[in-house]
Amino acid sequence: MIIDESIDKLREECGVVGIFNHPESANLAYLGLHALQHRGQEAFGIVSCDDQSGFHTHKTFGLVSDGIDKSKLELLKGSSSIGHNRYSTHGSKYRIENIQPFVFNTHTGPLAICHNGNLTNADTLKVELERQGAIFHSTSDTEIFMHLLARTPYGDPKTRIMDVTGRVKGAYSLVVMTPDSLIGVRDPYGYRPLVMGKKDGATVLASESCALDLIGAEFVREIKPGEICQIRKNGVESVYIERKAPENFCSFEPIYFSRPDSRMNDVDVYAYRSKIGEQLATESPSPDADLVIAIPDSGVAMAMGYAKAAKLPYDVGLVRNHYVGRTFIEPTQAIRDFGVRLKLNPRSTVLRGKSVVVVDDSIVRGTTSIKIVRMLRNAGAEKIHVRIGSPPITHSCYFGVDTPNRQNLVAAQKQVSEIRDMLGADSLAFLSVEGLKKALGHDRGYCFGCFSGKYAEDIGTKIAEQPTDGSGPGLRA
Ligand code: AMP
Repeated sequence: MIIDESIDKLREECGVVGIFNHPESANLAYLGLHALQHRGQEAFGIVSCDDQSGFHTHKTFGLVSDGIDKSKLELLKGSSSIGHNRYSTHGSKYRIENIQPFVFNTHTGPLAICHNGNLTNADTLKVELERQGAIFHSTSDTEIFMHLLARTPYGDPKTRIMDVTGRVKGAYSLVVMTPDSLIGVRDPYGYRPLVMGKKDGATVLASESCALDLIGAEFVREIKPGEICQIRKNGVESVYIERKAPENFCSFEPIYFSRPDSRMNDVDVYAYRSKIGEQLATESPSPDADLVIAIPDSGVAMAMGYAKAAKLPYDVGLVRNHYVGRTFIEPTQAIRDFGVRLKLNPRSTVLRGKSVVVVDDSIVRGTTSIKIVRMLRNAGAEKIHVRIGSPPITHSCYFGVDTPNRQNLVAAQKQVSEIRDMLGADSLAFLSVEGLKKALGHDRGYCFGCFSGKYAEDIGTKIAEQPTDGSGPGLRA
């Protein structure tokens, strides 16, 4: 398979939102993006559609709260709007052309599209399309949808999208806007989430239900894997992409990526994380521990679940500074663990002389955990038992979570005992895949590819080996 480095196929974590039939659609899309900010912080965009004046666009880098004001929102006229938060660790992140939604004109009129997920055959499709004369403006795989949609001969948007789904592989939760409808699409495996809500006669689509809560919309249902759901003034109509395999929802969504107050299968993510913590305590107890602490914020629910099952007190051992900006001036004199200390400060009053269980959701490269263990030790913790609420991440994700390539995944390179020594912890345990399955339940099929290397779809051997830019996940909520 030919690899084209210019496609951001490995590194997209995004949030999408769509509002149909509401006089304040752009305002609601803005609020929805604000609620989905954790899914992408590099850039965002909103496109509105007005019956009289057509499509209006606002795109900018940075956070939603910083990037738009009342006067700019007022320019986004119309009763439909879609929006996108983008996260990318590629060098191309500073290209304005990569900010979604993308708007394009086709033989049946204009369309706007935004996408969460990654296409695994983007490189081959791009080469093919370029040979046919397509001119790409961005390095985002989402543009492939535009070119393919523009080429379909059909008139009805659902049929056009259905036609394109026969060509693309990988993960896609899409929100598409036409002049008279809003369309939600999920790939047949349902890798990434997409939910529907209602508000005063308006219909809302969003990556997660927390976006519905903020705008006061009522949760209706999830868009089903393989569903192409078109919302028009006279009702909602769905067609389904042929299912070749069972659902394969990303297990990293409930572990880390989704907001804890979002609901999946009528259960909120917080409850899943709490169950994960309970399961972890059952599998890997820490008999000599005095207390359980979390690495905030993502480890909190798991740590509380662990403490409950282990019948240990839960305490706040690390305090997080929520106001860490993207840029700061580093002191010229080196301060140990400066980066992590900007975000987290240990409470020596609760740690001194104690045997502590510290719970986090995942270890990716291991760099964060090394610093945290050292910080806890310096704050006086006598014993440190690290417990991780996911199995070791041994393989990259090709479906929309930013995991680095295997050389940089510590669990792909080292045994658990070696990682424990590297962290300087007294003990280290990960949740088992079986334990994770138990905690998540059997209501749906999950993708465990990053823990097992087994993917539902062929990802192409060359893609699996493709080097990335070497950056990795930061410490985040
Ligand atoms: P590391 O230092 O690479 O081991 O990073 C692990 C930390 O990054 C954990 O505290 C996770 O909460 C967080 N994390 C895990 N996956 C991601 C991701 N895809 N993007 C950003 N942060 C992540």
